Amino acid sequence: MPVTRMPAASKSAPAGPGIKADYEGHFRAALDRLHGERRYRVFADIERIAGRFPTANWRRADGSTREITVWCSNDYLGMGQHPEVVGALTETARRCGVGAGGTRNIAGNNSPLVDLERELADLHGKEAGLVFTSGYVSNQAGISTIAKLIPNCLILSDAFNHNSMIEGVRHSGCEKRIFRHNDLAHLEELLVEAGDRPKLIVFESVYSMDGDVAPIGRICDLAARHGAMTYLDEVHAVGLYGPRGAGIAERDGVMDRVDVIEGTLAKGFGCVGGYITASAAICDAVRSFAPGFIFTTALPPAVAAAARASVRYLKRSSAERDAHQRQAARTKAALEAAGLPVLPTETHIVPVMVGDAELCKAAADHLLEFHDIYIQPINYPTVPRGTERLRITPSPFHDEAQIGKLTAALAETWDALDLPRAGTVFVEAAE
Ligand code: PLP
Repeated sequence: MPVTRMPAASKSAPAGPGIKADYEGHFRAALDRLHGERRYRVFADIERIAGRFPTANWRRADGSTREITVWCSNDYLGMGQHPEVVGALTETARRCGVGAGGTRNIAGNNSPLVDLERELADLHGKEAGLVFTSGYVSNQAGISTIAKLIPNCLILSDAFNHNSMIEGVRHSGCEKRIFRHNDLAHLEELLVEAGDRPKLIVFESVYSMDGDVAPIGRICDLAARHGAMTYLDEVHAVGLYGPRGAGIAERDGVMDRVDVIEGTLAKGFGCVGGYITASAAICDAVRSFAPGFIFTTALPPAVAAAARASVRYLKRSSAERDAHQRQAARTKAALEAAGLPVLPTETHIVPVMVGDAELCKAAADHLLEFHDIYIQPINYPTVPRGTERLRITPSPFHDEAQIGKLTAALAETWDALDLPRAGTVFVEAAE
């Protein structure tokens, strides 16, 4: 995954003594460059409707609203509206109030957060869990702190890792090697090259843009053979895979072989927050040394209680996971049958390729304006240029009628904009 680059500062005349520089000009120039590169982002203003997921109200620029169907939410199972989850949130907010009252260093733990960490440790079969304010922060703080505490650590990072992991690697200050995406031979080559020094392999289970899956067990085999530690991001898998919703490592029976499992509470679990689970010593060390943990206000008790309710529910119920896989498979089949360029995936993610930033945005606008369907366009730097796409995320709540409507709407949009059909080869543009 490419790294987000900061645009170069605009060149304006230096300010003289007592003359304020045209600071605003720098920001306008940066935005102009984004427009020029056709990757300025616009977010739809929508309000989700609890009890009617995936239906939402879209507030248009003129202030009017229209009911739309959301096809790009990462609340994959609709747990954000589940009665047990909403109930836990509202009951705890009434009992404990809203905010956490500060960082844990200043204001102490809140009990729902402690219970949530125990629940997560149990989910992944680890000694301990540590909750952060987001999955992003958990990766950035977790990877950087763990690697920094291992003297002379070399980090081996998958080329498609998420930006939060890249930032974690960068903040560690450790030497790094990037292995080609899911390429075991290349990973082994780098492990051999590294020799006896300590090594940390960081990778994801489900890669969210291409929807492919890492060979976790085989990466653990390599780690064991070459004496490396493993750190796995299960952000796009927790709640969704495995008999209790612990992710792909659980599904594959290799959870105990991974040293650190990181996840989010924001996607499959429908809330907000992130976490790591690992040995008691690792979690305690991150708790004690990570600035991203120490210096920010803790997750509010009501959110922690809601997240715990979601985790607990999905440990015992597989109905949502089964329906999710079924509806994702039906969506893929319907779109493929319509001749749309669906990237084949082995997971719940359904990328429909466009291959051009402007057309991708135009397709998303067309779907919203003429079909009341919301799918956010995915452009560079989230995906390489030339592989722009609509990333569709069916849920258990997208029914047959909605799948039919989506298929017809995409087919009409593809005709109207003359977009590439199935069989087109999408090539990453050279940087
Ligand atoms: N890891 C991966 C692979 C992600 O895709 C994301 C976000 O989409 C995150 C971590 C960050 O998680 P959160 O949204 O909880 O901050």
